[in-house]
This record gives sequence, C-alpha cells and structure tokens, in this order.
Amino acid sequence: MVNFVGAGCGAADLITVRGLRLIKEADVIIYAGSLVNPELLKDAKKDCAVYDSAKMTLEQVLAVMKQAEAEGKKTVRLHTGDPSLYGAIREQMDALSEAGISFEVCPGVSSFSGAAASLKAELTLPGVSQTVILTRMAGRTSVPERESFRSLAAHHTTMAVFLSAGLLKEMEEELLTAGYEPDTPAAIVYKATWPEERIFRCTVSSLWKTAEEAGIKKTAMILIGGVLGEKEIPGFERSRLYAPDFSTGFRKGTKD
Ligand code: SAH
Repeated sequence: MVNFVGAGCGAADLITVRGLRLIKEADVIIYAGSLVNPELLKDAKKDCAVYDSAKMTLEQVLAVMKQAEAEGKKTVRLHTGDPSLYGAIREQMDALSEAGISFEVCPGVSSFSGAAASLKAELTLPGVSQTVILTRMAGRTSVPERESFRSLAAHHTTMAVFLSAGLLKEMEEELLTAGYEPDTPAAIVYKATWPEERIFRCTVSSLWKTAEEAGIKKTAMILIGGVLGEKEIPGFERSRLYAPDFSTGFRKGTKD
C-alpha cells in the first residue's frame, strides 16, 4: 500500500492528523527533500527506510515503491503542500495502477493557504473577488496557450502564483498589460510558515524590485489582488451570511 501524503507547506505541525498517523505507521518514506520539513521524519519508526526524492528519478522512486510492496511494507510518499498541486503524483499513480499496487492520497495545507494565513488575508472578499486563480508562469514547464498568464490576469481575480519567483519581471509586465492598476496590492511570501518565513507586501508594479532587493528567487508564493489591501478596500462589503437580516437554515434573520 502506498500513501501519497501532503506534508503541508512548511511548519511541521501543519500536517494533517491522518498524514502524521501514516508517517508513524510507514515502513518506507520517500520525501521531497527540497521542500518537505525534515522534522516530520522524527515521527517515523526507528527502522523506517527514508529516501530523499530530490536525488532520485521517477524510475528510482517507483522501484523503491515496488520493492516495498513486494515485501508487504507500507510506503508513504511525502509531498510538499498539497499533493494535488504541481505534485507530479499522476505519473506515479499511473505506474502503481499498472503494477496493481493500491494507493490513497492524503491532502495537505498548500502553500497558497499557508501564505494567506501568514498574511492574515481572506482571499475571497465579497465585492472584491470571489475567485482565486492558482497558476504559474510558463517556465521550463510550458503552460497551455489558452491559459496564458496574461489571459488569466485579465479576469482581475485574486491570483496565487506558484513556481514563478524567478520570473517576476515578466509577471509584472503581464499583469500591467492585462490591465491591473500598478498600485494593486500584491505580496511575496518566502517560505511561508517555515521559521525563516519572510513577508513582503508590495504592489503589482513593485513585485520585481521588491524580490530583487530582498534576493528572493525561489520558494515564494506570489499573491495578487485587491483583497490584500491593508486599509479601505474599494468595493468590499461585509458578508451577507452574518448580516442580521439574512436568514439561513441555522438562524432566522430580523428585518430591523
Ligand atoms: N504542492 C505544493 C506546490 C509545489 S510547487 C503546494 O501545494 O504548495 C513548488 C512551489 O510552491 C514553489 O515554487 C513555491 O511557489 C510554492 N511553495 C511551496 N512551499 C512554499 C512555502 N512554504 N512558501 C511559499 N511558497 C511555497
């Protein structure tokens, strides 16, 4: 049995209760050494075999999984954040299905959630944006043309951008071309929820300069949108759900 487990985006205690249980029960752990907090491995069994996938190919990872399965062992494949986002789990799952090995996926706290929490931000404010676009700039991995960054930016929703800290000059240009006001709030959160976390609040037009000055080139979440405003946010209305005159299945609203 193989469990793909989301480790969370940094702080070791952000893993789910289920994820931690699976780590404690594992005979083999293959973890993404570049981004998973190694503290999580302290909870593994003493005789658990631990592999760092940062130094392995897909073929080597699969070989370890298949060997463990042949020996009746439990494997945990520990991925950063939530495995469903840029996790490269599909190819592993396909190979396991083909080999007749069963697997489950345990979700994790994604870095976009971790960064929002660090910023104390609500990403979906009524009257400002009710949509979050999770995306990346095209880099060594291409992005389908129909979802080019510029075309997504044209919606002016809240945006959470992965894998793009080294492409902020290009991102800034795309955002401005897509019609974002230069002073639209933005934030760069480096290593969100890790002890070395750094938060930079800036604007769309100062994204690149901010990252340059701070020397941030990787492991950063870029959040963009009016919801990040610190004072008066144009258009922001309080939620209807908690308005006194609003009835729900749980509470009868008053009209006064
Ligand atoms: N599955 C992961 C994303 C993996 S892709 C998740 O759900 O978060 C790796 C990218 O995620 C990085 O380039 C960076 O943009 C972002 N990232 C991962 N951990 C981060 C963290 N602690 N703080 C900020 N960004 C992070």
